[in-house]
Amino acid sequence: MDFGYTEEEQAYRKRLSKFLDENLTEDIARQNWEDLGVGPEAREFSRKLAVNGFLGMSWPTAYGGKGLGPTYDFILLDELGKRWGAHVPLDVGYTMVGPTILRRGSDALKQSFLPRIIDGEIEFCLGYTEPNAGSDLASMQMRAEDKGDHFIVNGQKTFNTECHYSEYHWLAARTDFSPDIPKHKGISLFVVDMDSPGITVRPLWTMSGERTNEVFYDDVRVPGERMIGEKNKGFYYMMEAIGSERNQVFVPGRLVPLLEDLIRYAKETKFNGEPLAEDPLIRDRLAQAAIELEVAAVLADHSRWLESNGLPMSYEPEITKIFTSELEQRLVDTGMQLLGFFSQLTEDSIRVPLRGRVSWYYLHSFMTTIGAGTSEVGRSVIAQRGLGLPRAY
Ligand SMILES: Cc1cc2nc3c(=O)[nH]c(=O)nc-3n(C[C@H](O)[C@H](O)[C@H](O)COP(=O)(O)OP(=O)(O)OC[C@H]3O[C@@H](n4cnc5c(N)ncnc54)[C@H](O)[C@@H]3O)c2cc1C
Repeated sequence: MDFGYTEEEQAYRKRLSKFLDENLTEDIARQNWEDLGVGPEAREFSRKLAVNGFLGMSWPTAYGGKGLGPTYDFILLDELGKRWGAHVPLDVGYTMVGPTILRRGSDALKQSFLPRIIDGEIEFCLGYTEPNAGSDLASMQMRAEDKGDHFIVNGQKTFNTECHYSEYHWLAARTDFSPDIPKHKGISLFVVDMDSPGITVRPLWTMSGERTNEVFYDDVRVPGERMIGEKNKGFYYMMEAIGSERNQVFVPGRLVPLLEDLIRYAKETKFNGEPLAEDPLIRDRLAQAAIELEVAAVLADHSRWLESNGLPMSYEPEITKIFTSELEQRLVDTGMQLLGFFSQLTEDSIRVPLRGRVSWYYLHSFMTTIGAGTSEVGRSVIAQRGLGLPRAY
């Protein structure tokens, strides 16, 4: 195995780094990272990324891409992550919707959506979870009734994060209601206009102050041509995409800024007249974090390498997701220990260290082992697919 990068990939990273240093400010990164809603500056930044040729590197040339491998998108996410934990400004569209439309969508859907995603023009929100269907996603109850040339959709989604500013909903709904079919077989995927009559979006706030949403559908009409691929195959399409989604979303680069902040703080701060950087316990914790970040980078490189070489991925992206998200919690715990009482101050306090990032990160970090699939369910997947243990449920 050679996880190294080709000369072209390295040149792309260099060009991209320079561009990001010159164009990506902390304010823009935070607009997206904290899910406060992509404001005009973040949208403008997406378009700049597109105009400068950094989006769609792995997508076919027929739809405006560059026809190169997935490693380029991994580099994009890694470099964005290193700058205040930013991610692709239009992330659901870019990392999940586009690749699935490419694999399974009709030509009309490809023509209509892919160039606009690559141009950084539109964003999607993710419509999977329901109040009674999170880990057990196949139990979803939202109904899309087939009326010939259109579907009528009714039901409720929850934790649909970017729905208050996205143009489109990437929606999974039940299309086969027979009681005797296995529940994962009756689900289809749709692209729905968020301004369709009958959709209501209600805010749901997390403890770190990020906004996610409940979304209600009341007799919403969705044209038949907005269904992805074959009817009732949606669950398979969702599972098909999950490995590369994990590879793109859980890039360890985004933990680098926090570790750098903590190292700087330890160097610049004294406690009882002694520099924190000389305290053996603190040195130990920071060194341990650095070791684990290296491990996370190798795990991510391994999954990326499998994907780039067209090799099957089963439990590997799950390992990366669990390790990286739990590392985030350990790292932020180190931050809390390092800052002591100051760690509880928020951004608006005049004495707050590190711009309040540690207290915010602490509250935020609880969701990293829940969102996009919990650690418990991920471990169950590893036990089954990786270790050959029997299915537990
Ligand atoms: C901030 C935030 C943003 C989110 N954004 C989105 C979004 O944009 N779109 C979207 O569709 N979803 C989103 N989600 C939803 C997320 O994917 C779900 O929360 C997650 O899949 C868990 O589902 P649940 O909350 O229903 O918990 P449950 O599935 O009810 O799980 C509760 C607990 O039971 C455990 N558990 C459940 N089943 C098993 C099992 N079989 N074996 C062992 N343990 C088990 C879980 O690990 C967990 O600890 C978001 C969630 C959060 C917190």
